[in-house]
Amino acid sequence: MTALAFVDLETTGATATSDRITEIGIVEVDADGTVREWQQLVNPGTRISPFIENLTGISNAMVADAPPFAEVAEEVLRRLRGRLFIAHNARFDYGFLKNEFKRTGVDFRAPVLCTVKLSRTLYPEFKRHSLDSLIERHSLIANGRHRALADAQLIHQFWQKIHVDRSSADIDAALKTLNTHPSLPPHLDASIIDELPETPGVYLFYGEASEHGDLPLYIGKGKNIRSRVLSHFSADHRSAREMTLAQQTRRIDWIETAGEIGALLREAALVKTMQPTQNRQLRRNDEVCTWTLVDAGDGWLRPGLSLAGEIGFGIDSACYGLFKNAREATQTLRKLVEAHQLCDILSGLDRQVGDKPCFGHQTRRCKGGCVGKEPLAKHSMRLLGAMVTLKLASWPFPGPAVIREGDEAHLIDAWRYLGTARSDDELHALLDTQRPPFDRDTYKILCKHIGSMRPVSG
Ligand SMILES: [Zn+2]
Repeated sequence: MTALAFVDLETTGATATSDRITEIGIVEVDADGTVREWQQLVNPGTRISPFIENLTGISNAMVADAPPFAEVAEEVLRRLRGRLFIAHNARFDYGFLKNEFKRTGVDFRAPVLCTVKLSRTLYPEFKRHSLDSLIERHSLIANGRHRALADAQLIHQFWQKIHVDRSSADIDAALKTLNTHPSLPPHLDASIIDELPETPGVYLFYGEASEHGDLPLYIGKGKNIRSRVLSHFSADHRSAREMTLAQQTRRIDWIETAGEIGALLREAALVKTMQPTQNRQLRRNDEVCTWTLVDAGDGWLRPGLSLAGEIGFGIDSACYGLFKNAREATQTLRKLVEAHQLCDILSGLDRQVGDKPCFGHQTRRCKGGCVGKEPLAKHSMRLLGAMVTLKLASWPFPGPAVIREGDEAHLIDAWRYLGTARSDDELHALLDTQRPPFDRDTYKILCKHIGSMRPVSG
């Protein structure tokens, strides 16, 4: 069994960076089951508010003669070292301790287990997982409340209770899903995991800096950056590709976004500009193309292939379909021509040799536009009818538009993502941004959210 430390702290408030610890309670459980309990008042070096005095029962008078954290840091470290750090709302207690240790020059790290998350995983049928709820649900015996050791004892009792209630296989499975021991990339600083936010956003994996500069290996997005990043390193769904990525990752960076649309847009833009080597598809736009209809005279409309970079996608002429490359475009057109009994030559798939009919006419599929049996204008009408399903939406606004998501505004012009602003000033500054080239992925994301777009006024 792993050595455990059940930890609870009392503090002057809720913010780890500005509030301070007033009391530490630790229940140590050794690998052989030996239990030790320890509690220590700490002088926070700042006033405890009457509200907090009331809540915890720890008054300014009580901590006046207590040692500051720096004086007990070594003992706390000795009690926590080599143990799984277990706390209720563990990020709170872990965050506070990390900050206090940081002030004394110690970089504290431990594998962490949160009993709120554990309770939620093991007892999903219940909505509430506060310590009070657990006391009631599992008949835990509270030896005082809101004092550090008393609360640490309660979570220790909860731990014992689940081992009576549930099989060890169930508990192991729950611990695994909670990523208590994520198998981190060998060269990655483990403390980065503590810092990963549980918000939507984009993350970037970097390898060793080379002479080519510091370019990301991989860019991804997720509704929860932390769990998405950890899922790359979890042994369960690790492919050869993920293994390579984990081996090479030295550093992780991220951008928090207000929501999913922002994450999708930024990811699409970053992948294009940074071209990470490990993204499965580079999704470049170089070969992205579309069909347009060229007036070849006498009522003949002939499909012509245009590259994304060459025309104003969604702005200028009508465009039909978005294809990865010319091959995909031609395949799609060929299917349409066959399904709609069109002419190979008039649709541009084949060249006319002398006055010979197209191959389709020989198999009686083409109605003979190539040999004058069907008027050109009639063929053009049928071709238009066949291609209408591929027609791209034209940009529906006279100018730029925004999609608002939380406190963010994504600025779009003619299907191009110009950037994200968090204020009107930022938005106005973005309006001067040079329009990036047309991007197929961005276009697809935007098409799904066209209902949320509002034109920029003024
Ligand atoms: Zn024909």
